Amino acid sequence: MDIKTVGIVGAGQMGNGIAHVFALAGFEVLMTDISREALDNAMELIEGNLDRQVSREKISQAERDDARGRIKTTLTLSDLGQTDLVIEAATERETVKVAIFEDLVPHLKPETILTSNTSSISITRLASRTDRPEKFMGFHFMNPVPVMQLVELIRGIATDEPTFKACLAVVEKIGKTASTSEDFPAFIVNRILMPMINEAVYTLYEGVGSVSSIDSAMKLGTNHPMGPLELADFIGLDTCLAIMNVLHDGLADTKYRPCPLLTKYVEAGWLGRKTDRGFYDYRGETPVPTR
Ligand code: NAD
Repeated sequence: MDIKTVGIVGAGQMGNGIAHVFALAGFEVLMTDISREALDNAMELIEGNLDRQVSREKISQAERDDARGRIKTTLTLSDLGQTDLVIEAATERETVKVAIFEDLVPHLKPETILTSNTSSISITRLASRTDRPEKFMGFHFMNPVPVMQLVELIRGIATDEPTFKACLAVVEKIGKTASTSEDFPAFIVNRILMPMINEAVYTLYEGVGSVSSIDSAMKLGTNHPMGPLELADFIGLDTCLAIMNVLHDGLADTKYRPCPLLTKYVEAGWLGRKTDRGFYDYRGETPVPTR
Protein backbone atom coordinates (compact mmCIF):
# COMPACT_ATOMS: atom_id res chain seq x y z
CA MET A 1 0.00 0.00 0.00
CA ASP A 2 1.24 3.47 -0.91
CA ILE A 3 1.03 5.64 2.21
CA LYS A 4 0.73 9.37 1.52
CA THR A 5 -1.41 10.74 4.34
CA VAL A 6 -0.86 10.21 8.05
CA GLY A 7 -3.28 10.88 10.90
CA ILE A 8 -1.81 11.51 14.35
CA VAL A 9 -3.95 11.26 17.50
CA GLY A 10 -2.52 13.21 20.45
CA ALA A 11 -0.46 16.38 20.05
CA GLY A 12 1.73 16.01 23.15
CA GLN A 13 5.51 15.64 23.23
CA MET A 14 5.43 12.59 20.96
CA GLY A 15 2.60 13.64 18.62
CA ASN A 16 4.28 16.92 17.69
CA GLY A 17 7.62 15.22 17.01
CA ILE A 18 5.96 12.54 14.88
CA ALA A 19 4.09 15.22 12.87
CA HIS A 20 7.40 17.06 12.35
CA VAL A 21 9.32 14.09 10.91
CA PHE A 22 6.47 12.87 8.68
CA ALA A 23 5.88 16.35 7.23
CA LEU A 24 9.60 16.78 6.50
CA ALA A 25 9.61 13.39 4.74
CA GLY A 26 6.81 14.54 2.41
CA PHE A 27 3.70 12.98 4.01
CA GLU A 28 0.49 15.00 4.42
CA VAL A 29 -0.20 15.10 8.17
CA LEU A 30 -3.49 15.60 10.00
CA MET A 31 -3.10 15.85 13.79
CA THR A 32 -5.90 15.75 16.35
CA ASP A 33 -6.18 16.20 20.12
CA ILE A 34 -9.03 16.72 22.58
CA SER A 35 -7.43 20.02 23.55
CA ARG A 36 -7.19 23.05 21.22
CA GLU A 37 -4.41 24.35 23.45
CA ALA A 38 -2.39 21.14 22.94
CA LEU A 39 -2.76 21.50 19.14
CA ASP A 40 -1.71 25.17 19.23
CA ASN A 41 1.27 24.41 21.49
CA ALA A 42 2.29 21.54 19.21
CA MET A 43 2.26 23.78 16.12
CA GLU A 44 4.29 26.42 17.94
CA LEU A 45 6.85 23.80 18.99
CA ILE A 46 7.05 22.29 15.50
CA GLU A 47 7.63 25.75 13.97
CA GLY A 48 10.35 26.50 16.54
CA ASN A 49 12.04 23.14 15.91
CA LEU A 50 11.88 23.53 12.12
CA ASP A 51 13.31 27.06 12.43
CA ARG A 52 16.17 25.70 14.53
CA GLN A 53 16.93 23.12 11.82
CA VAL A 54 17.03 25.95 9.23
CA SER A 55 19.38 28.05 11.36
CA ARG A 56 21.67 25.02 11.81
CA GLU A 57 21.55 24.49 8.03
CA LYS A 58 20.08 20.97 8.42
CA ILE A 59 17.16 21.90 6.15
CA SER A 60 16.49 24.77 3.73
CA GLN A 61 13.89 27.50 4.24
CA ALA A 62 11.86 26.00 1.37
CA GLU A 63 11.89 22.53 3.00
CA ARG A 64 10.78 24.13 6.26
CA ASP A 65 7.91 25.98 4.58
CA ASP A 66 6.79 22.90 2.65
CA ALA A 67 6.84 20.75 5.80
CA ARG A 68 4.90 23.35 7.78
CA GLY A 69 2.35 23.56 4.95
CA ARG A 70 1.78 19.79 5.07
CA ILE A 71 0.60 19.75 8.72
CA LYS A 72 -3.09 20.41 9.46
CA THR A 73 -4.89 20.12 12.79
CA THR A 74 -8.45 19.21 13.74
CA LEU A 75 -10.41 18.68 16.95
CA THR A 76 -12.61 16.10 15.18
CA LEU A 77 -11.19 12.58 15.43
CA SER A 78 -13.34 11.25 12.56
CA ASP A 79 -11.54 13.63 10.13
CA LEU A 80 -8.61 11.16 10.33
CA GLY A 81 -10.77 8.45 8.74
CA GLN A 82 -9.55 9.28 5.24
CA THR A 83 -5.83 9.00 6.03
CA ASP A 84 -3.74 5.99 4.91
CA LEU A 85 -1.95 5.45 8.21
CA VAL A 86 -3.07 6.44 11.72
CA ILE A 87 -0.52 6.77 14.53
CA GLU A 88 -2.15 7.00 17.94
CA ALA A 89 0.07 8.94 20.39
CA ALA A 90 -2.39 9.90 23.14
CA THR A 91 -1.93 9.50 26.89
CA GLU A 92 -0.49 6.13 28.01
CA ARG A 93 -3.76 4.74 29.40
CA GLU A 94 -5.44 1.71 27.86
CA THR A 95 -9.01 3.01 28.35
CA VAL A 96 -8.08 6.23 26.50
CA LYS A 97 -6.51 4.36 23.58
CA VAL A 98 -9.33 1.81 23.28
CA ALA A 99 -11.94 4.61 23.22
CA ILE A 100 -10.00 6.42 20.47
CA PHE A 101 -9.83 3.32 18.24
CA GLU A 102 -13.48 2.44 18.86
CA ASP A 103 -14.59 5.99 17.95
CA LEU A 104 -12.35 6.10 14.88
CA VAL A 105 -13.07 2.68 13.33
CA PRO A 106 -16.52 3.48 11.80
CA HIS A 107 -14.97 6.38 9.84
CA LEU A 108 -11.95 4.54 8.38
CA LYS A 109 -11.25 3.54 4.80
CA PRO A 110 -10.99 -0.27 4.59
CA GLU A 111 -7.27 -0.15 3.75
CA THR A 112 -6.14 2.28 6.48
CA ILE A 113 -3.40 0.90 8.73
CA LEU A 114 -3.84 1.58 12.45
CA THR A 115 -0.83 1.90 14.75
CA SER A 116 -0.12 2.91 18.32
CA ASN A 117 2.94 4.67 19.71
CA THR A 118 2.27 3.03 23.09
CA SER A 119 5.38 2.47 25.21
CA SER A 120 4.10 -0.69 26.80
CA ILE A 121 0.44 -1.66 26.24
CA SER A 122 -0.36 -4.94 24.44
CA ILE A 123 -0.67 -4.35 20.69
CA THR A 124 -2.68 -7.56 20.36
CA ARG A 125 -5.22 -6.37 22.94
CA LEU A 126 -5.56 -2.88 21.37
CA ALA A 127 -5.87 -4.49 17.90
CA SER A 128 -8.63 -6.83 19.11
CA ARG A 129 -10.81 -3.80 19.87
CA THR A 130 -10.78 -2.71 16.21
CA ASP A 131 -12.30 -4.14 13.02
CA ARG A 132 -8.82 -4.84 11.54
CA PRO A 133 -6.38 -6.63 13.88
CA GLU A 134 -4.42 -7.78 10.81
CA LYS A 135 -3.82 -4.14 9.84
CA PHE A 136 -2.74 -3.05 13.33
CA MET A 137 0.85 -2.57 14.56
CA GLY A 138 2.93 -0.98 17.28
CA PHE A 139 4.86 2.00 15.89
CA HIS A 140 7.03 3.10 18.82
CA PHE A 141 9.06 6.28 18.42
CA MET A 142 11.70 7.54 20.83
CA ASN A 143 11.73 11.00 22.39
CA PRO A 144 12.64 13.55 20.94
CA VAL A 145 11.34 12.10 17.68
CA PRO A 146 13.22 14.42 15.28
CA VAL A 147 16.53 13.45 16.94
CA MET A 148 16.25 9.78 17.88
CA GLN A 149 17.05 7.24 15.17
CA LEU A 150 15.11 4.20 16.40
CA VAL A 151 11.54 3.09 15.74
CA GLU A 152 10.41 -0.15 17.38
CA LEU A 153 7.95 -2.03 15.18
CA ILE A 154 5.74 -4.42 17.11
CA ARG A 155 3.56 -7.03 15.43
CA GLY A 156 0.42 -8.09 17.25
CA ILE A 157 -0.46 -11.77 17.04
CA ALA A 158 -2.76 -11.09 14.05
CA THR A 159 -0.66 -8.48 12.17
CA ASP A 160 -0.22 -9.53 8.53
CA GLU A 161 2.98 -9.32 6.48
CA PRO A 162 1.80 -6.56 4.03
CA THR A 163 1.04 -4.31 7.04
CA PHE A 164 4.46 -4.98 8.56
CA LYS A 165 6.20 -4.32 5.22
CA ALA A 166 4.21 -1.11 4.65
CA CYS A 167 5.25 0.18 8.09
CA LEU A 168 8.86 -0.84 7.52
CA ALA A 169 8.85 1.14 4.23
CA VAL A 170 7.46 4.16 6.10
CA VAL A 171 10.27 3.95 8.69
CA GLU A 172 12.80 3.95 5.84
CA LYS A 173 11.07 6.88 4.12
CA ILE A 174 11.33 9.03 7.27
CA GLY A 175 15.04 8.17 7.44
CA LYS A 176 14.91 6.15 10.66
CA THR A 177 15.94 2.60 11.59
CA ALA A 178 13.50 -0.07 12.71
CA SER A 179 14.05 -2.78 15.28
CA THR A 180 11.38 -5.46 15.49
CA SER A 181 9.98 -6.58 18.80
CA GLU A 182 7.49 -9.26 19.73
CA ASP A 183 4.38 -8.11 21.54
CA PHE A 184 5.28 -8.58 25.21
CA PRO A 185 4.95 -5.93 27.93
CA ALA A 186 6.99 -2.78 27.20
CA PHE A 187 8.66 -4.44 24.15
CA ILE A 188 12.48 -4.13 24.04
CA VAL A 189 13.57 -0.58 24.88
CA ASN A 190 11.30 0.03 27.86
CA ARG A 191 11.56 -3.54 29.16
CA ILE A 192 15.24 -2.78 29.74
CA LEU A 193 15.21 0.99 30.34
CA MET A 194 12.27 1.38 32.74
CA PRO A 195 13.44 -1.10 35.43
CA MET A 196 16.74 0.83 35.44
CA ILE A 197 14.93 4.14 35.94
CA ASN A 198 12.70 2.56 38.61
CA GLU A 199 15.83 1.22 40.36
CA ALA A 200 17.33 4.72 40.28
CA VAL A 201 14.17 5.99 42.04
CA TYR A 202 14.53 3.18 44.64
CA THR A 203 18.14 4.26 45.14
CA LEU A 204 16.88 7.77 45.87
CA TYR A 205 13.97 6.47 48.03
CA GLU A 206 16.29 4.36 50.17
CA GLY A 207 18.73 7.24 50.62
CA VAL A 208 21.60 5.52 48.85
CA GLY A 209 22.23 8.72 46.91
CA SER A 210 20.81 12.17 46.17
CA VAL A 211 19.31 13.12 42.79
CA SER A 212 22.60 14.73 41.73
CA SER A 213 24.81 11.87 42.90
CA ILE A 214 22.65 9.22 41.20
CA ASP A 215 22.58 11.12 37.90
CA SER A 216 26.27 12.01 37.87
CA ALA A 217 27.20 8.44 38.89
CA MET A 218 25.39 7.03 35.86
CA LYS A 219 26.55 9.75 33.47
CA LEU A 220 30.22 9.62 34.41
CA GLY A 221 30.34 5.98 35.52
CA THR A 222 28.49 4.34 32.63
CA ASN A 223 28.76 6.98 29.91
CA HIS A 224 25.01 7.57 29.68
CA PRO A 225 24.33 10.98 28.08
CA MET A 226 21.61 11.69 30.68
CA GLY A 227 21.24 10.43 34.25
CA PRO A 228 18.26 8.11 34.90
CA LEU A 229 16.32 10.68 36.97
CA GLU A 230 16.93 13.43 34.43
CA LEU A 231 15.76 11.01 31.75
CA ALA A 232 12.65 10.07 33.77
CA ASP A 233 11.73 13.78 33.96
CA PHE A 234 12.26 14.04 30.23
CA ILE A 235 10.02 11.04 29.45
CA GLY A 236 7.32 12.10 31.96
CA LEU A 237 6.93 10.45 35.38
CA ASP A 238 3.28 9.52 34.64
CA THR A 239 4.44 7.64 31.54
CA CYS A 240 7.25 5.93 33.52
CA LEU A 241 4.77 4.83 36.21
CA ALA A 242 2.27 3.61 33.61
CA ILE A 243 4.99 1.50 31.95
CA MET A 244 6.12 0.00 35.29
CA ASN A 245 2.49 -0.92 36.04
CA VAL A 246 2.17 -2.63 32.65
CA LEU A 247 5.38 -4.61 33.32
CA HIS A 248 4.24 -5.51 36.85
CA ASP A 249 0.74 -6.57 35.79
CA GLY A 250 1.78 -8.22 32.53
CA LEU A 251 4.75 -10.23 33.82
CA ALA A 252 3.52 -10.75 37.41
CA ASP A 253 7.02 -10.48 38.82
CA THR A 254 7.72 -8.38 41.94
CA LYS A 255 10.99 -7.17 40.42
CA TYR A 256 8.84 -4.77 38.35
CA ARG A 257 6.98 -3.17 41.31
CA PRO A 258 6.91 0.61 40.84
CA CYS A 259 8.87 2.51 43.50
CA PRO A 260 6.47 4.21 45.97
CA LEU A 261 8.45 7.45 45.53
CA LEU A 262 7.70 7.43 41.78
CA THR A 263 4.00 7.02 42.62
CA LYS A 264 4.23 9.91 45.09
CA TYR A 265 5.73 12.29 42.53
CA VAL A 266 2.94 11.41 40.09
CA GLU A 267 0.30 11.89 42.82
CA ALA A 268 1.76 15.35 43.45
CA GLY A 269 1.42 16.20 39.76
CA TRP A 270 5.22 16.52 39.58
CA LEU A 271 5.47 14.80 36.22
CA GLY A 272 8.88 16.11 35.11
CA ARG A 273 9.68 18.67 32.44
CA LYS A 274 6.14 18.86 31.08
CA THR A 275 4.86 20.24 34.40
CA ASP A 276 8.10 22.11 35.25
CA ARG A 277 8.80 19.89 38.26
CA GLY A 278 9.83 16.28 38.81
CA PHE A 279 13.12 14.99 40.22
CA TYR A 280 14.34 18.46 39.25
CA ASP A 281 12.57 21.83 39.52
CA TYR A 282 12.73 23.53 36.11
CA ARG A 283 11.09 26.82 37.05
CA GLY A 284 14.35 28.76 37.46
CA GLU A 285 17.30 29.35 35.15
CA THR A 286 18.93 25.98 35.88
CA PRO A 287 17.29 22.73 37.05
CA VAL A 288 17.45 22.28 40.85
CA PRO A 289 17.18 18.75 42.36
CA THR A 290 14.00 18.30 44.43
CA ARG A 291 15.66 15.80 46.82
P1 NAD B 1 1.73 13.77 26.54
O1 NAD B 1 1.09 13.76 27.88
O2 NAD B 1 2.80 14.78 26.22
O3 NAD B 1 0.59 13.94 25.39
C1 NAD B 1 -0.57 13.17 25.32
C2 NAD B 1 -1.58 13.99 24.49
O4 NAD B 1 -2.72 13.13 24.25
C3 NAD B 1 -2.11 15.24 25.21
O5 NAD B 1 -1.96 16.38 24.38
C4 NAD B 1 -3.60 14.91 25.44
O6 NAD B 1 -4.44 16.05 25.37
C5 NAD B 1 -3.85 13.95 24.29
N1 NAD B 1 -5.04 13.12 24.48
C6 NAD B 1 -5.49 12.51 25.61
N2 NAD B 1 -6.64 11.86 25.35
C7 NAD B 1 -6.91 12.04 24.03
C8 NAD B 1 -7.97 11.62 23.17
N3 NAD B 1 -8.97 10.88 23.62
N4 NAD B 1 -7.93 11.99 21.88
C9 NAD B 1 -6.92 12.78 21.39
N5 NAD B 1 -5.89 13.21 22.17
C10 NAD B 1 -5.90 12.84 23.47
O7 NAD B 1 2.26 12.28 26.31
P2 NAD B 1 3.46 11.79 25.34
O8 NAD B 1 4.72 11.78 26.11
O9 NAD B 1 3.37 12.50 24.04
O10 NAD B 1 3.04 10.25 25.16
C11 NAD B 1 2.07 9.87 24.20
C12 NAD B 1 2.23 8.39 23.90
O11 NAD B 1 3.55 8.15 23.41
C13 NAD B 1 2.05 7.47 25.10
O12 NAD B 1 1.44 6.28 24.68
C14 NAD B 1 3.48 7.22 25.54
O13 NAD B 1 3.64 6.01 26.24
C15 NAD B 1 4.17 7.15 24.20
N6 NAD B 1 5.61 7.41 24.23
C16 NAD B 1 6.14 8.37 25.04
C17 NAD B 1 7.50 8.59 25.06
C18 NAD B 1 8.11 9.67 25.94
O14 NAD B 1 9.33 9.68 26.11
N7 NAD B 1 7.33 10.58 26.50
C19 NAD B 1 8.35 7.85 24.23
C20 NAD B 1 7.78 6.89 23.37
C21 NAD B 1 6.42 6.68 23.39
